[in-house]
Amino acid sequence: MPPAEPTLIDRFQRRITYLRLSVTDRCDLRCAYCMPREMVFLPRKDLLTLDELHRLALAFIDRGVRAIRLTGGEPLVRRDVMDLVTALGRHVGQQLDELTLTTNGTHLADKADALASAGVRRVNVSLDTLDRVRFTELTGADRLGAVLDGIAAARDAGLEVKLNVVALRDESSEGRRELIEWAHGHGHSVTLIEVMPMGEVAAGRADQFVPLTEVRRELETRWTLTPSTHRTGGPARYWHIAETGGRIGFITPLSDNFCAGCNRLRVTATGQLHPCLGGTEAVDLRAALRSGGGDQALASALETAMRIKPERHRFAISQGFESGPARHMSVTGG
Ligand code: SAM
Ligand code: SF4
Repeated sequence: MPPAEPTLIDRFQRRITYLRLSVTDRCDLRCAYCMPREMVFLPRKDLLTLDELHRLALAFIDRGVRAIRLTGGEPLVRRDVMDLVTALGRHVGQQLDELTLTTNGTHLADKADALASAGVRRVNVSLDTLDRVRFTELTGADRLGAVLDGIAAARDAGLEVKLNVVALRDESSEGRRELIEWAHGHGHSVTLIEVMPMGEVAAGRADQFVPLTEVRRELETRWTLTPSTHRTGGPARYWHIAETGGRIGFITPLSDNFCAGCNRLRVTATGQLHPCLGGTEAVDLRAALRSGGGDQALASALETAMRIKPERHRFAISQGFESGPARHMSVTGG
């Protein structure tokens, strides 16, 4: 079946063709920029069932969504996640251009073959350091080895692996370069992401945040970076590094706003649709699904989402001041 014409169009004429669907808020790591160590997770009964997740995904596909990214929390800790991947994977190459996953990689070694067989071609793995001590300090778990095994398994299964790296003020320039060099040496592109002030964490956001303009300048003291025309339809802007032969993306929500080109929606594991990652707007799709109102209730909830999608996010970080939603990234589905 060919892709459906996009019918989710907001007040600013932005067409929604991309969905981030969170399958759980739970995680086996506690990354310092994402959640506090004592994070309290939602009761399981509040989460959408597998059938509800599937129904929602199909409703978005019917309205012209061409790419779905499963996320969380850590999507691979949800026990039945592979059933969803298998069900949605059947649409890849038809209504869906791609089905992808953002994962911390700790369970990837077990799941890589099944993901590839189900139709996933690409995964984003979040990895901020290659230093085992630093990894353990940053995530609260000594799992660097599992992540590296996961990345190797994904590559062996034929999956393209892209690394997501959150740029942190206290990361050393050597550490950052080592990670980029390693990734490019193994054929993985790297995307650096600015820290966003989402929910409270132990550190102040101003202490974590470093603008990517500064990181790029730091990389340019050693390497030759040239702008690349490569685009993925997302917010990243890419550069090529001559010395490593690889590509690096920069996602700059704070230092360089990209909202005008936004084509995405996010749905949490409890079915809250957030039309903007950095906003407080929400529409309760779980209520619509469970209302007995069938497709009409869902259609009307999605129309509301299109009416309230804001023009741009309101993230801000400066010393002593931060502005962003109270919910953590792991709850929203990053
Ligand atoms: N657990 C999976 C993972 O880590 O890849 C998927 C969910 S995680 C919330 C999605 C992405 O959000 C990761 O790349 C993570 O590094 C990023 N992230 C989490 N909190 C963030 C924050 N406050 N600012 C910027 N990126 C953040
Ligand atoms: Fe877990 Fe991903 Fe958040 Fe890290 S960034 S704590 S892996 S959800």
